[in-house]
This record gives sequence, structure tokens and C-alpha cells, in this order.
Amino acid sequence: MKNNFDYIIIGSGIAGLTTALTLGDSGSVAIFTKKNPSDSSTNLAQGGMAAMIGKGDQADWHIEDTMKSGDFHNKKEAVSFLVKNSKEALFWLKKQGVLFDAKPSLEAGHRLPRIFHTTDFTGKDIEKNLLKKISENKKISLFKNSLAIDLIVKNNICQGVFVLIEDNKIVPFFSKAIVLATGGSGQVYQWTTNPEVVTGDGLAMAIRAKAKVADLEFVQFHPTAFKGKSSPLFLLSERLRGEGAKLVDKDGKQFVNELLPRDIVARAVFEKQKTSEVYLTMAHLDKKEIKRKLPNIYKKLLTHGYYLTHDRIPVTPAAHYQCGGVVTDLDGKTSVKNLFAVGEVARTGVHGANRLASNSLLEGVVWGRRAGNNIKKIRNSKFEIRNKKFKYSKILIKLNKNNKKILNKIKSDIQKTMWEKVGIVRRKNEMLEALKIFKNYKIQLGKIKAKDGVSLQLIEASNLTEVALAITQAALNRPKSLGAHYLV
Ligand SMILES: Cc1cc2nc3c(=O)[nH]c(=O)nc-3n(C[C@H](O)[C@H](O)[C@H](O)COP(=O)(O)OP(=O)(O)OC[C@H]3O[C@@H](n4cnc5c(N)ncnc54)[C@H](O)[C@@H]3O)c2cc1C
Repeated sequence: MKNNFDYIIIGSGIAGLTTALTLGDSGSVAIFTKKNPSDSSTNLAQGGMAAMIGKGDQADWHIEDTMKSGDFHNKKEAVSFLVKNSKEALFWLKKQGVLFDAKPSLEAGHRLPRIFHTTDFTGKDIEKNLLKKISENKKISLFKNSLAIDLIVKNNICQGVFVLIEDNKIVPFFSKAIVLATGGSGQVYQWTTNPEVVTGDGLAMAIRAKAKVADLEFVQFHPTAFKGKSSPLFLLSERLRGEGAKLVDKDGKQFVNELLPRDIVARAVFEKQKTSEVYLTMAHLDKKEIKRKLPNIYKKLLTHGYYLTHDRIPVTPAAHYQCGGVVTDLDGKTSVKNLFAVGEVARTGVHGANRLASNSLLEGVVWGRRAGNNIKKIRNSKFEIRNKKFKYSKILIKLNKNNKKILNKIKSDIQKTMWEKVGIVRRKNEMLEALKIFKNYKIQLGKIKAKDGVSLQLIEASNLTEVALAITQAALNRPKSLGAHYLV
């Protein structure tokens, strides 16, 4: 198997695929993705993508709405870059075959309708079309079931990545540009809308490679996930509240303005849950219109026995979006040479202390395009693989049953501790307790690794621990509430 590519991309969500397609024919591209190519947050995005296309809207308004949502912790330069490139991003996706509805809709935090969607499963349509284009490009090789373990970095220059490939071998791959597009870290929490592949691997790898990270304390909790038994929790998107859905308690009483920013609504639901179940209802709205506008959500809830048109749907908040991440500039460059980051894993400065709904798909396209175009420029620069003699273990040592059990327990303990102690409402003493727990797990995982070697479960558990530690430390470093970081 060839282990030398012009460009390496880790992750096959909107950001990674956009970067790959932008690199296009300029060199050989390898995309490594953990499981199936469509296993991603992108594939689950329902609401849509924000775009400022004129027609009664203004760049300044989209910028202001984004900054307001981010509690003005955003980098204005990045927000402005996002908004000014949004029209081009929308048109680029259309060129890839995504059939957006002509009329945008309204979502919480946006002052006017500027959210473009296909049906109510916009992400799936985007993912499907981008993957089709990838499959048509002979320069791009997509490797599924290929888990990136660690970056190969020497003297602050990234030269490649170790990957656990399909037949259970760990192989180093080398390249002149490595792009992290691994998404967020929602699985570090017990309740999340993020798919199982989203375990913060890219962030953990970047931390180990000593890349600069920031704003990790700002984790956005979505106020309304369907409180069912499936994992991840099925999201009941902003769009429903945009269309007029109400949030009510067990007595049918409304207790919050549903169109307020996510963190405020999430906290209101969280508080209300202490005394009552919380439900979302659309029963007062036109039933035909609900079915027409939200056919997929309607069908999905039906598989759980609920009619969106008539029933009260039980809901809970859930970890949804990582606002911080690996620090990049407008070109997607990180603090490590030849290492780039795009999409949710990156901290571009767009989201500040809290993300405005529907800005993240947009960010994935805008930065994927920009990073791709920028990376092309290093195409002819002198590139040498500095050290082909990196050692790697060829055989993956199997875990014994006992360790599997231990690893599963560590994973679920981390998720529960994060939910209870570093979640929607935070207290300093509880976060200090959490930090202690995570430090102990890090030591325990190190011992398992030294004794038995690595495995997928061990890698994920180690990454979750790394990310849990980093989020908790960042939260402790910020003694006052701001945006999604809420202290009592
Ligand atoms: C339920 C849900 C609904 C959402 N709705 C919207 C919406 O309506 N509008 C909006 O703008 N945003 C929405 N978001 C957020 C948005 O979908 C994400 O922020 C965005 O899709 C992230 O794209 P990405 O390419 O950065 O990462 P992802 O789409 O998550 O892709 C990450 C990829 O990296 C791979 N990966 C991870 N670790 C490794 C590893 N170690 N090795 C190899 N591969 C790896 C994964 O398998 C995956 O392919 C939603 C998110 C969720 C979860």
C-alpha cells in the first residue's frame, strides 16, 4: 500500500470533503475516515446552512447576529470572512449537486430568514453529493475504517500521521500537508447528538502534537434532543421552533421563549427538568404543513411511536457543538507547520463563546475551500519526507476481555462525569473533582497501553480522557460565565 500522498485529510465530513474537492486535481489526496464515509455529524445536520445572499439581508447583520450569539468573544475578522464568503459557499455546494430550496427559512438568533436547506435532512444531501464527487475524482483515495492515531511531528513540522488501517495494522503515512477534519468531541458527554465516531480524536492528536488550542470551555448544548433510547440522541432541530413549535411542561405550560439563543433555552429546559418532564409540541400548527416541511423528522419520530403533528414529544438538552478547538488563521493553518484544521475541530474564531445556529456547515465549506486553495500553493515547494524510518508496530495486540470491560467503564464514567460536573451548569468544586478523576484515568490508560498495546477502544478512551481534561482545565481557567460556559 502506498504510504506517500501529496495531501492527507483526516475525516470525511463536510469540511474534509470540501478540502479534498478543492485540492481537486492538483495532487494525490488521501482521505482517512474512521468508519463508513458518511458516519459524521454532517450527515445528521437537519436545519441547514446560513448564507447571506443579499435580497434584503446585509453582511453587517449576519456578522452582528453571529457576534451577539458568541457573546462578542468571536474574532471579527473571521466572522466577516465567513459571511462574505457565504454566497460563494452556497453556490459551490449547488455546483456539487446539492439542490437547496429557493427560499431560506428563519432560525433562532438570525434576525431574518437566511437558512438554506434541502429537505429537513440537509446534511445528508450535502454529504451524499460530496461523496459522489469524491468517488468520481481519480486523484482522491478514500480509506474507510482507517483510524488516525497520532500525528508525526518533528521540530514543530507535521510530516504525516499514524493510521490504524482496515486489516488491523498501524501504518505511517507521509505528506507535505496534513488536514485535520475530524469534527467535534460530543461523545465526551453522556447525552449528545453527535455520532459515535465523534470522540475528539483530532483535538486530542493536536494537543499531543503541542498545537495551539483555544476556547474549549465553550461547549454548546442543544436544548431539544428527543429523549428516547437511541444513541446518539435524535435532534429536534431549531427549525421546529422556527416553524412555531412550543416547549411545555407536564401541565402543558410554556416556560421559555423558544426563539432565544440555544444556551438560554437549554438552561431553561435543564432547570425545568428538575420538577417536570419537558415536551416539544407542534399540535397547534397546520398538520399538512408540518408533514410537508419536516417529512424526515416526522417519519423518524413515527418509528419511535410519536406523531409530530399531534403528540407531545419528550425532550432533553444534549451536548451538540464544540465552539473551540485547534487554533487556525484564515487559511486554516495551525501553529504546527504543514498541519491544517478545518470544520468543527478548528477554532477559527467564528463562533466565539457560542455558535449561531447553521453557521457551522457554512464554516466547513468556507474554510475547506480556503485551506484547499492555500494548500495548493505549497504544491511545488521542496518537500522531502524527513524520516521514513519511523517505527510502528505491525501487529495490533488484542485486548483481553477484562480490559474491554475496563475500557468501556472508563468511557462511560468520563461521559457521565463530564455531563454532571462540566456540563450545562458548572461549579468550581465539581470541576476540580472531575479533573482528579480524569487524571487518574489517564494514568490507568497509560498502564494498559504499556502492557497490552493499543486498540480502537483504548485509542478512543485515551482521546476522550485527553479532551475531558482539556475542556475541564479550560473551564476552570475561566472564572466568570461567558456564552455557553455557565458558572454558578
Ligand atoms: C444532529 C446534528 C445536527 C446538526 N445540524 C446542523 C445544522 O442544521 N446546520 C449547521 O450548520 N450545523 C449543524 N450541525 C453541526 C454540523 O453538522 C457540524 O458542525 C459539521 O457537520 C461538522 O463537520 P466536520 O466536517 O467538521 O465534521 P464531521 O461531519 O463530524 O466529520 C468528521 C469526520 O472525521 C472522522 N474522524 C473522526 N476521528 C477520526 C480519526 N481519528 N481518524 C479518521 N477519521 C476520523 C469521522 O468519522 C467523520 O468522517 C449539526 C450537528 C449535529 C450532530
